[in-house]
This record gives sequence, C-alpha cells and structure tokens, in this order.
Amino acid sequence: MASVDGHPPSVDVLARSISDVGLPAPLLVAAAREAVAAADPATARRRAVALAGCMLQPVVNATGVLLHTNLGRAPLAVQRPARAVNVEMSLETGHRGSRSAFVASLLSVTTGAERATVVNNGAAAVLLALTVLAPDRTVVVSRGELVEIGGGFRIPEVLETSGARLVEVGTTNRTRLDDYRSAIEATPPEDKPVILKVHQSNYRISGFIASVGVRELAALGARVVVDLGSGLLDADTPWLPGPPPRWLAGEPAARQTLEDGASLVTFSGDKLLGGPQAGVIAGRADLVDRCARHPLARALRPGSLVLGALQDTLLAYVRRDATSVAFWRMATVPVDDLRMRAKAVADAVGAPATVVDCSSVAGAGSVPGTEIPSVGVSLPGDRTAELRRHRPAVIATIRDSTTVCDLRSVEAADDPVVVSALRELFGVPSRSLSGSRGAQ
Ligand SMILES: *Cc1c(COP(=O)(O)O)cnc(C)c1O
Repeated sequence: MASVDGHPPSVDVLARSISDVGLPAPLLVAAAREAVAAADPATARRRAVALAGCMLQPVVNATGVLLHTNLGRAPLAVQRPARAVNVEMSLETGHRGSRSAFVASLLSVTTGAERATVVNNGAAAVLLALTVLAPDRTVVVSRGELVEIGGGFRIPEVLETSGARLVEVGTTNRTRLDDYRSAIEATPPEDKPVILKVHQSNYRISGFIASVGVRELAALGARVVVDLGSGLLDADTPWLPGPPPRWLAGEPAARQTLEDGASLVTFSGDKLLGGPQAGVIAGRADLVDRCARHPLARALRPGSLVLGALQDTLLAYVRRDATSVAFWRMATVPVDDLRMRAKAVADAVGAPATVVDCSSVAGAGSVPGTEIPSVGVSLPGDRTAELRRHRPAVIATIRDSTTVCDLRSVEAADDPVVVSALRELFGVPSRSLSGSRGAQ
C-alpha cells in the first residue's frame, strides 16, 4: 500500500485495504500493525495471507499418504449436539465413573487386553507407562530401537525423564536373545527389570539384521512393554471382509503382541486404528490400573470429544464395519476402482492431465517401507502451490517434475473438487463445489 504524502498509512486504512484476505477484522488489524511496526506496510497482506493459510479447514489429501501427520492423520467426522455427556457418570448408578470405562471395554474385546486406558496421544501413553513402570528400574532396550519417532520424541530422552536406568543391548542392526538375557541376569531380581520394545516406526533397517520377538523376551521373566506406535488392533483384521491386505504383513498388532506375553502395549488412536488423536495403554490389569491412577494421568487425559470419537471408531470395529473407518475404506479401495476414478478425473480436466500408476503409503510411521498400489492423475510441472490455494485446498505431490494427485487418499466424493482445482490451473473456470470461496 502506497504511503500518502510520505506518511505511512494508518493501521486502520491498511487493515481495510486487505479485507479481501477473509480474516476477522481484529486479525487484519494485527497484521497491519505488525507491518507498520516493522516499517514495512507493504508486507501487511503477506502477513495476513500467511496467517489465513494456517486456519484449520477441510482439505483434500491427494498426497497418497493415507495418515498424513501434517493433515491430521486419520480423517474423522465428529458430529455432536451441544449437550451434556455422561463422561464421568454411570447412568446405572448415578455415581462418578471412569471416563474411559466404555472405550476401555471396547479396547479389551478388540485386542484381548485385560484392561486399557486412554490418554491424549501415543507419546503420552509411552511417557505414562514408563513413568509408572520404570523409575529407578533397569529398562533394557535394543540399540536398534532407540529411535526418534518425530517431533523430537526420542526414546532415550523419554526414558531419562521417567527416571529409568537405560541399559542398551545389541547393536544398531543386530540384537539377540542372549544380549537381553545377559542384561536381565546382571540386574538384581528385586529390581524388576523391564524390557522395552519399540516399533521402529518411520525408519527400517534391512540386510544383515536380527531382532528378538516378544514371545522369546517374555520367556526371560522380565516385564515386556511394547510401544507399537501404529495401533493395528489385530493382525487377523476381522473387521475387513477378506484376508489381511498384503501390505500389512509384518506389522505388529496389539492382540498378538499381548498374546505373546507383553505386559503392556502402547499405541496411537489416529494411525492404523483410524480414530482421533489419542494414546492407548493396554495389557495387564494391575499395571494399567497403576497407569490410570498415576497423578500424571490426570494431566494427560482426553476430553469427551476425543473419547466419543474413539468410541464411535471402536464400535465400527466391533460391528466389523471397516467402511465406516475412513482409513480402512481408503486403504482397501481396489486399484481398478481408483483407475476408473482417475480416468474420469483426467477426462474431465482434459489435456495435459494423464492417468498414472502410483504408490500410496499408510504414513505416520505405520508399516514403514511398504507401498499400497494406487492410481492418480498427473500434470507437467510443479503446480502444488496453486492447488493449495484452491478452496478447498488440494494437497498434491511432485514426482519427477510432475504434479501427482494420488486418488487413494481422496474420498471419491471429493473427486469433483480435484477436477475443479485442476481445471482452474488452465484458466477453465469451474464452480467451487464446496460452496466456499474460489482460489484467489
Ligand atoms: C507414532 C508413534 C509414537 C507417538 O505417537 P503420537 O500419537 O504421535 O504421539 C510413539 N511411538 C511409536 C513407535 C510411534 O510410531
């Protein structure tokens, strides 16, 4: 905005001049004030646009990463009337109840755990489980599993916070049963050592490797705690109509890990479980109860919105109704269906849009290194920034200097949004289908 007579524009005038950015007036004024304070009024618009881009809104995930941490992982519908909820009351007794009692019973029937409790995310579940079990105890971990999960969540640092004595065993690529056994035998039995096993999550080592299964570890007599991360409830996937998908092979599951003798498992609610951001601790009743009673549990507890969404998700599993869990719906769409959709999208957009084979991934560190065959639509060049500016935004990826919209992570109902966003790139106006504003 040009200054008038050499004076900087007033904050109010500047804020009004950027009202088309579509932010509430006080936020426009704040952006204008920052720009003026920085003696650079021309940056007011850029500041406001940057803030508007952070406003939470539905987007179309065309990245092919089904659980995209930057896009909120598992897509989830939450509809709830503004009504009180019996979050801590049993309607039977009228007395105060545990807030996760019902969800816990659903977790027990889906995983076979004696008991379960829910906290805010997977990291909180690991932190709480180790805070309860590990203080002043030896915690034995393979050097291949001392990982950083992401966002600076590092297993050695969490262990340090919990007051555990970390004993590393094995090497980065190979850890054997004898490595664990020696560490356990070197610990006085009254010290009740814990073996911690951690899903390697977003990295995978291959080649000359060795690791030890939970069953063999449990036979050593120490408590085994397994941070599963991804939250696959049961390797047999009874909620799916057919056999477990091939891409799932090798992913550790809660039910089988507990059957193998783990005392506790921890996992996230919004990875392969397909629910809201939450963390689950499941396993032996006495240990889960200690977790639930720990003062830290109060600080980590989820609200009724999260518990309600988790309850809905788990009820879908119990009904064996995978189609109401968005993650499983997307993950199991047949490739031929995706190819038909991609052809329809490419046809509706016209040249130079073409149908391409691509590979989706589960994402969020689940099933690392495994790809799910998929089909998408590709365009020459990097058009990702323009697609992000469409409303609703379409988040695409770049591959070999082409822009690819992978349709496996897109709900079929959103295909028209992809068409509209791609057509706009070529100046073919098309109405935005969501009823929201078009690209600016
Ligand atoms: C994802 C993950 C976590 C953290 O879970 P959040 O729900 O993201 O807090 C911890 N451990 C493992 C192995 C994971 O994969």
